[in-house]
Amino acid sequence: MITRIPTKKIYVGNVAVGGDAPISVQSMTYSQTADVAETVAQINRLHFAGCDIVRVAVPDMEDALALRAIKEQISLPLIADIHFNYKLALIAAEVVDCVRFNPGNIGDKSRIKEIVKACQARNIPVRIGVNAGSLEKEFENKYGQSAEGMVASAEYNIKYLEDLGFTDIKVSLKASDVQRTVEAYRMLRPKNSYPFHLGVTEAGTLFHATVKSSIGLGALLLDGIGDTMRVSITGELEEEINVGRAILKDSGAMPDGLNIISCPTCGRIEADLVSAVSEIEKRTAHIKTPLNVSVMGCVVNAIGEAAHADVAIAYGKGKGLVMVKGQVVANLDEGELVDRFVHEVELMAAKS
Ligand code: SF4
Repeated sequence: MITRIPTKKIYVGNVAVGGDAPISVQSMTYSQTADVAETVAQINRLHFAGCDIVRVAVPDMEDALALRAIKEQISLPLIADIHFNYKLALIAAEVVDCVRFNPGNIGDKSRIKEIVKACQARNIPVRIGVNAGSLEKEFENKYGQSAEGMVASAEYNIKYLEDLGFTDIKVSLKASDVQRTVEAYRMLRPKNSYPFHLGVTEAGTLFHATVKSSIGLGALLLDGIGDTMRVSITGELEEEINVGRAILKDSGAMPDGLNIISCPTCGRIEADLVSAVSEIEKRTAHIKTPLNVSVMGCVVNAIGEAAHADVAIAYGKGKGLVMVKGQVVANLDEGELVDRFVHEVELMAAKS
Protein backbone atom coordinates (compact mmCIF):
# COMPACT_ATOMS: atom_id res chain seq x y z
CA MET A 1 0.00 0.00 0.00
CA ILE A 2 1.11 3.55 -0.62
CA THR A 3 1.72 5.95 2.28
CA ARG A 4 -0.44 9.03 1.83
CA ILE A 5 0.65 12.49 2.85
CA PRO A 6 -1.78 13.54 5.61
CA THR A 7 -4.47 16.03 4.59
CA LYS A 8 -7.47 17.71 6.15
CA LYS A 9 -10.69 15.70 5.88
CA ILE A 10 -13.68 17.42 4.32
CA TYR A 11 -17.06 16.04 3.30
CA VAL A 12 -18.72 16.18 -0.09
CA GLY A 13 -22.20 15.05 0.89
CA ASN A 14 -21.66 11.77 2.72
CA VAL A 15 -18.31 11.06 1.05
CA ALA A 16 -15.22 12.01 3.04
CA VAL A 17 -12.32 13.43 1.04
CA GLY A 18 -8.85 13.64 2.54
CA GLY A 19 -7.55 12.46 5.89
CA ASP A 20 -7.89 8.70 6.19
CA ALA A 21 -10.81 8.50 3.72
CA PRO A 22 -10.36 6.21 0.73
CA ILE A 23 -9.36 8.06 -2.44
CA SER A 24 -12.64 8.69 -4.25
CA VAL A 25 -13.29 8.52 -7.98
CA GLN A 26 -15.27 11.30 -9.63
CA SER A 27 -16.70 11.90 -13.05
CA MET A 28 -18.92 14.35 -14.93
CA THR A 29 -22.06 13.95 -16.96
CA TYR A 30 -22.11 15.20 -20.56
CA SER A 31 -25.85 15.84 -20.83
CA GLN A 32 -27.28 19.35 -20.87
CA THR A 33 -27.74 19.64 -17.12
CA ALA A 34 -31.13 21.29 -17.63
CA ASP A 35 -32.29 18.00 -19.19
CA VAL A 36 -33.09 16.51 -15.79
CA ALA A 37 -34.15 13.05 -16.96
CA GLU A 38 -31.02 12.50 -19.07
CA THR A 39 -28.71 13.95 -16.42
CA VAL A 40 -30.22 11.70 -13.73
CA ALA A 41 -29.90 8.70 -16.07
CA GLN A 42 -26.22 9.47 -16.66
CA ILE A 43 -25.59 9.94 -12.93
CA ASN A 44 -27.22 6.58 -12.25
CA ARG A 45 -24.98 4.95 -14.87
CA LEU A 46 -21.94 6.45 -13.16
CA HIS A 47 -23.18 5.31 -9.75
CA PHE A 48 -23.64 1.76 -11.03
CA ALA A 49 -20.13 1.82 -12.52
CA GLY A 50 -18.61 2.66 -9.12
CA CYS A 51 -18.39 6.47 -9.20
CA ASP A 52 -18.18 8.06 -5.73
CA ILE A 53 -18.94 11.73 -6.52
CA VAL A 54 -20.49 13.29 -9.61
CA ARG A 55 -20.04 16.76 -11.07
CA VAL A 56 -22.33 18.53 -13.51
CA ALA A 57 -21.62 21.57 -15.66
CA VAL A 58 -23.70 24.65 -14.86
CA PRO A 59 -23.20 27.03 -17.79
CA ASP A 60 -26.67 28.67 -17.74
CA MET A 61 -29.46 29.70 -15.41
CA GLU A 62 -31.64 26.82 -16.71
CA ASP A 63 -28.95 24.38 -15.58
CA ALA A 64 -28.66 25.97 -12.15
CA LEU A 65 -32.43 25.82 -11.69
CA ALA A 66 -32.49 22.13 -12.66
CA LEU A 67 -30.09 21.13 -9.87
CA ARG A 68 -32.76 20.77 -7.20
CA ALA A 69 -34.78 18.28 -9.24
CA ILE A 70 -31.62 16.35 -10.08
CA LYS A 71 -30.48 16.25 -6.47
CA GLU A 72 -33.85 14.89 -5.36
CA GLN A 73 -33.49 11.89 -7.69
CA ILE A 74 -29.93 10.77 -7.02
CA SER A 75 -27.93 9.48 -4.10
CA LEU A 76 -24.39 10.35 -5.24
CA PRO A 77 -22.92 13.57 -3.84
CA LEU A 78 -23.36 16.34 -6.42
CA ILE A 79 -20.85 19.04 -7.37
CA ALA A 80 -21.73 22.09 -9.46
CA ASP A 81 -19.04 23.12 -11.93
CA ILE A 82 -18.99 26.87 -12.36
CA HIS A 83 -17.08 29.05 -14.81
CA PHE A 84 -17.57 32.78 -15.49
CA ASN A 85 -20.94 33.44 -13.83
CA TYR A 86 -20.77 33.50 -10.02
CA LYS A 87 -24.53 34.01 -9.74
CA LEU A 88 -24.99 30.44 -10.94
CA ALA A 89 -22.79 29.30 -8.07
CA LEU A 90 -25.02 31.12 -5.59
CA ILE A 91 -28.08 29.26 -6.85
CA ALA A 92 -26.21 25.95 -7.02
CA ALA A 93 -24.89 26.32 -3.48
CA GLU A 94 -28.45 26.16 -2.15
CA VAL A 95 -28.75 22.59 -3.41
CA VAL A 96 -25.48 20.81 -4.19
CA ASP A 97 -22.84 19.21 -1.96
CA CYS A 98 -19.86 21.20 -3.24
CA VAL A 99 -19.16 24.06 -5.64
CA ARG A 100 -16.18 24.00 -7.97
CA PHE A 101 -15.17 27.38 -9.36
CA ASN A 102 -12.36 28.34 -11.68
CA PRO A 103 -10.56 31.32 -10.15
CA GLY A 104 -9.16 32.23 -13.58
CA ASN A 105 -12.51 33.11 -15.10
CA ILE A 106 -14.89 33.87 -12.24
CA GLY A 107 -13.90 37.56 -12.32
CA ASP A 108 -13.54 40.02 -9.47
CA LYS A 109 -12.55 38.50 -6.12
CA SER A 110 -15.66 39.94 -4.47
CA ARG A 111 -17.57 37.33 -6.47
CA ILE A 112 -15.56 34.57 -4.83
CA LYS A 113 -16.50 36.11 -1.50
CA GLU A 114 -20.18 35.74 -2.42
CA ILE A 115 -19.67 32.10 -3.40
CA VAL A 116 -17.89 31.40 -0.13
CA LYS A 117 -20.67 33.04 1.86
CA ALA A 118 -23.25 30.87 0.11
CA CYS A 119 -21.24 27.70 0.77
CA GLN A 120 -20.59 28.69 4.37
CA ALA A 121 -24.33 29.13 4.90
CA ARG A 122 -24.92 25.49 3.96
CA ASN A 123 -21.67 24.13 5.34
CA ILE A 124 -20.53 22.73 2.01
CA PRO A 125 -16.98 22.74 0.62
CA VAL A 126 -15.49 24.54 -2.34
CA ARG A 127 -13.04 23.25 -4.90
CA ILE A 128 -10.58 25.80 -6.14
CA GLY A 129 -10.21 24.38 -9.62
CA VAL A 130 -7.14 25.90 -11.25
CA ASN A 131 -6.64 25.19 -14.94
CA ALA A 132 -3.38 26.04 -16.72
CA GLY A 133 -5.33 27.21 -19.77
CA SER A 134 -7.40 29.77 -17.88
CA LEU A 135 -5.20 31.36 -15.23
CA GLU A 136 -5.91 34.83 -13.89
CA LYS A 137 -4.17 37.37 -16.12
CA GLU A 138 -1.75 38.54 -13.41
CA PHE A 139 -0.43 35.01 -12.94
CA GLU A 140 -0.36 34.16 -16.62
CA ASN A 141 1.50 37.39 -17.40
CA LYS A 142 4.10 36.63 -14.73
CA TYR A 143 4.50 32.87 -15.12
CA GLY A 144 2.86 31.91 -18.42
CA GLN A 145 0.73 28.77 -18.30
CA SER A 146 3.32 27.02 -16.18
CA ALA A 147 3.18 24.91 -13.04
CA GLU A 148 4.46 27.97 -11.14
CA GLY A 149 1.52 29.99 -12.46
CA MET A 150 -0.98 27.32 -11.40
CA VAL A 151 0.52 27.10 -7.94
CA ALA A 152 0.60 30.91 -7.57
CA SER A 153 -3.10 31.05 -8.47
CA ALA A 154 -4.00 28.27 -6.04
CA GLU A 155 -2.00 29.82 -3.21
CA TYR A 156 -3.54 33.23 -3.77
CA ASN A 157 -7.08 31.85 -3.74
CA ILE A 158 -6.49 29.58 -0.76
CA LYS A 159 -5.23 32.59 1.19
CA TYR A 160 -8.23 34.62 0.04
CA LEU A 161 -10.64 31.97 1.32
CA GLU A 162 -8.69 31.54 4.56
CA ASP A 163 -8.85 35.28 5.17
CA LEU A 164 -12.63 34.95 4.89
CA GLY A 165 -12.49 32.29 7.60
CA PHE A 166 -13.28 29.51 5.15
CA THR A 167 -11.16 26.34 5.13
CA ASP A 168 -13.57 23.75 3.74
CA ILE A 169 -11.40 23.60 0.64
CA LYS A 170 -10.08 21.14 -1.87
CA VAL A 171 -7.78 22.07 -4.69
CA SER A 172 -7.05 20.93 -8.23
CA LEU A 173 -4.23 22.00 -10.54
CA LYS A 174 -4.98 20.64 -13.97
CA ALA A 175 -3.03 20.97 -17.19
CA SER A 176 -3.46 19.04 -20.41
CA ASP A 177 0.02 17.54 -20.20
CA VAL A 178 1.36 15.18 -17.61
CA GLN A 179 4.57 16.98 -16.76
CA ARG A 180 3.04 20.34 -15.78
CA THR A 181 0.25 18.63 -13.89
CA VAL A 182 2.58 16.50 -11.80
CA GLU A 183 5.00 19.38 -11.25
CA ALA A 184 2.23 21.67 -9.99
CA TYR A 185 0.74 19.19 -7.53
CA ARG A 186 4.20 18.30 -6.21
CA MET A 187 5.05 21.97 -5.80
CA LEU A 188 1.86 22.86 -3.92
CA ARG A 189 1.65 19.77 -1.68
CA PRO A 190 4.17 20.86 1.00
CA LYS A 191 2.56 24.30 1.29
CA ASN A 192 -0.80 23.33 2.83
CA SER A 193 -2.79 20.33 3.97
CA TYR A 194 -5.99 20.75 1.94
CA PRO A 195 -7.14 17.65 0.08
CA PHE A 196 -6.19 17.50 -3.60
CA HIS A 197 -8.44 16.53 -6.48
CA LEU A 198 -6.14 14.98 -9.10
CA GLY A 199 -6.60 15.05 -12.84
CA VAL A 200 -4.90 15.54 -16.18
CA THR A 201 -7.43 17.60 -18.08
CA GLU A 202 -8.48 17.20 -21.72
CA ALA A 203 -6.49 13.97 -21.83
CA GLY A 204 -8.00 12.65 -25.08
CA THR A 205 -9.70 9.44 -26.09
CA LEU A 206 -9.63 6.21 -24.09
CA PHE A 207 -6.17 4.98 -25.05
CA HIS A 208 -4.29 8.27 -24.67
CA ALA A 209 -6.25 9.41 -21.63
CA THR A 210 -5.49 6.10 -19.94
CA VAL A 211 -1.78 6.42 -20.65
CA LYS A 212 -1.58 10.08 -19.58
CA SER A 213 -3.64 9.59 -16.45
CA SER A 214 -1.80 6.42 -15.47
CA ILE A 215 1.53 8.22 -15.69
CA GLY A 216 0.41 11.48 -14.09
CA LEU A 217 -2.01 10.30 -11.44
CA GLY A 218 0.06 7.18 -10.86
CA ALA A 219 3.21 9.21 -10.18
CA LEU A 220 1.35 11.46 -7.74
CA LEU A 221 -0.39 8.59 -5.97
CA LEU A 222 2.95 6.82 -5.51
CA ASP A 223 4.23 10.05 -3.94
CA GLY A 224 1.32 9.83 -1.50
CA ILE A 225 -0.42 12.81 -3.13
CA GLY A 226 -4.12 12.77 -3.95
CA ASP A 227 -7.41 12.44 -2.09
CA THR A 228 -9.94 12.30 -4.92
CA MET A 229 -9.51 12.10 -8.68
CA ARG A 230 -11.07 12.22 -12.10
CA VAL A 231 -9.75 10.59 -15.26
CA SER A 232 -10.86 12.83 -18.14
CA ILE A 233 -11.72 10.79 -21.22
CA THR A 234 -13.30 11.83 -24.49
CA GLY A 235 -15.55 8.81 -24.39
CA GLU A 236 -18.22 7.01 -22.44
CA LEU A 237 -19.04 7.66 -18.81
CA GLU A 238 -18.17 4.22 -17.47
CA GLU A 239 -14.69 4.34 -18.99
CA GLU A 240 -13.63 7.16 -16.66
CA ILE A 241 -14.66 5.12 -13.65
CA ASN A 242 -13.10 1.88 -14.87
CA VAL A 243 -9.77 3.57 -15.62
CA GLY A 244 -9.83 5.60 -12.40
CA ARG A 245 -10.45 2.56 -10.24
CA ALA A 246 -7.80 0.58 -12.13
CA ILE A 247 -5.24 3.34 -11.52
CA LEU A 248 -6.06 3.31 -7.82
CA LYS A 249 -5.83 -0.46 -7.69
CA ASP A 250 -2.61 -0.83 -9.67
CA SER A 251 -0.86 2.02 -7.85
CA GLY A 252 -1.61 0.23 -4.58
CA ALA A 253 -3.92 3.01 -3.38
CA MET A 254 -7.07 0.88 -3.22
CA PRO A 255 -7.25 -2.89 -2.88
CA ASP A 256 -10.06 -3.83 -5.26
CA GLY A 257 -10.71 -7.23 -6.77
CA LEU A 258 -8.31 -9.44 -8.63
CA ASN A 259 -4.76 -8.51 -9.48
CA ILE A 260 -4.31 -10.74 -12.53
CA ILE A 261 -0.74 -11.64 -13.37
CA SER A 262 -0.70 -13.11 -16.88
CA CYS A 263 2.32 -13.75 -19.04
CA PRO A 264 2.81 -11.75 -22.24
CA THR A 265 2.98 -15.04 -24.25
CA CYS A 266 5.85 -16.14 -26.51
CA GLY A 267 6.80 -19.02 -28.79
CA ARG A 268 6.74 -21.44 -25.85
CA ILE A 269 3.03 -20.91 -25.25
CA GLU A 270 1.05 -24.12 -24.89
CA ALA A 271 -2.54 -22.80 -24.67
CA ASP A 272 -4.93 -20.13 -25.92
CA LEU A 273 -3.96 -17.79 -23.10
CA VAL A 274 -5.53 -14.63 -24.54
CA SER A 275 -9.01 -16.20 -24.58
CA ALA A 276 -8.49 -17.78 -21.16
CA VAL A 277 -7.46 -14.51 -19.48
CA SER A 278 -10.27 -12.47 -21.03
CA GLU A 279 -12.78 -15.11 -19.94
CA ILE A 280 -11.32 -15.02 -16.42
CA GLU A 281 -11.51 -11.20 -16.37
CA LYS A 282 -15.20 -11.29 -17.32
CA ARG A 283 -16.16 -14.07 -14.94
CA THR A 284 -14.39 -12.56 -11.95
CA ALA A 285 -15.28 -8.89 -12.53
CA HIS A 286 -17.86 -9.04 -9.71
CA ILE A 287 -15.29 -10.04 -7.09
CA LYS A 288 -14.20 -7.15 -4.90
CA THR A 289 -11.94 -9.12 -2.53
CA PRO A 290 -8.32 -8.26 -3.26
CA LEU A 291 -6.64 -11.44 -4.49
CA ASN A 292 -3.47 -12.11 -6.46
CA VAL A 293 -3.96 -14.63 -9.23
CA SER A 294 -1.64 -15.79 -12.00
CA VAL A 295 -2.36 -17.35 -15.37
CA MET A 296 0.78 -18.46 -17.19
CA GLY A 297 1.18 -19.99 -20.63
CA CYS A 298 3.88 -22.60 -19.92
CA VAL A 299 5.90 -24.03 -17.06
CA VAL A 300 8.85 -21.59 -17.39
CA ASN A 301 7.58 -19.03 -14.85
CA ALA A 302 4.26 -20.58 -13.90
CA ILE A 303 5.33 -22.41 -10.79
CA GLY A 304 7.33 -19.44 -9.48
CA GLU A 305 4.39 -17.05 -9.98
CA ALA A 306 1.92 -19.57 -8.57
CA ALA A 307 3.98 -19.78 -5.38
CA HIS A 308 3.08 -16.14 -4.63
CA ALA A 309 -0.47 -16.22 -5.99
CA ASP A 310 -3.68 -16.99 -4.14
CA VAL A 311 -4.94 -18.98 -7.12
CA ALA A 312 -3.04 -19.88 -10.29
CA ILE A 313 -3.16 -21.77 -13.57
CA ALA A 314 0.00 -23.25 -15.08
CA TYR A 315 -0.70 -24.34 -18.65
CA GLY A 316 1.08 -27.33 -20.21
CA LYS A 317 0.50 -29.21 -23.46
CA GLY A 318 -3.29 -29.74 -23.67
CA LYS A 319 -3.41 -29.90 -19.88
CA GLY A 320 -2.54 -27.77 -16.88
CA LEU A 321 -2.45 -27.34 -13.14
CA VAL A 322 -4.71 -25.27 -10.88
CA MET A 323 -2.86 -24.18 -7.77
CA VAL A 324 -4.07 -22.58 -4.55
CA LYS A 325 -1.49 -20.85 -2.34
CA GLY A 326 1.27 -22.65 -4.24
CA GLN A 327 -0.25 -26.12 -3.83
CA VAL A 328 -1.58 -28.15 -6.78
CA VAL A 329 -5.30 -28.79 -6.29
CA ALA A 330 -6.14 -30.12 -9.76
CA ASN A 331 -4.46 -31.49 -12.89
CA LEU A 332 -7.01 -31.06 -15.68
CA ASP A 333 -7.51 -30.94 -19.43
CA GLU A 334 -7.08 -27.45 -20.90
CA GLY A 335 -10.84 -26.98 -21.42
CA GLU A 336 -11.58 -27.54 -17.73
CA LEU A 337 -8.99 -25.24 -16.22
CA VAL A 338 -10.81 -21.89 -16.31
CA ASP A 339 -13.96 -23.32 -14.69
CA ARG A 340 -11.96 -24.83 -11.82
CA PHE A 341 -9.85 -21.69 -11.45
CA VAL A 342 -12.94 -19.43 -11.21
CA HIS A 343 -14.47 -21.85 -8.69
CA GLU A 344 -11.36 -21.66 -6.49
CA VAL A 345 -11.28 -17.85 -6.75
CA GLU A 346 -14.95 -17.56 -5.76
CA LEU A 347 -14.39 -19.94 -2.87
CA MET A 348 -11.45 -17.94 -1.57
CA ALA A 349 -13.28 -14.62 -2.00
CA ALA A 350 -16.26 -15.99 -0.05
CA LYS A 351 -13.96 -17.08 2.81
CA SER A 352 -12.08 -13.74 3.00
S1 SF4 B 1 5.19 -18.14 -19.20
FE1 SF4 B 1 5.91 -19.37 -20.92
S2 SF4 B 1 4.59 -18.77 -22.63
FE2 SF4 B 1 4.36 -17.21 -21.09
S3 SF4 B 1 5.86 -15.66 -21.73
FE3 SF4 B 1 6.85 -16.94 -20.17
S4 SF4 B 1 7.94 -18.48 -21.38
FE4 SF4 B 1 6.45 -17.52 -22.78
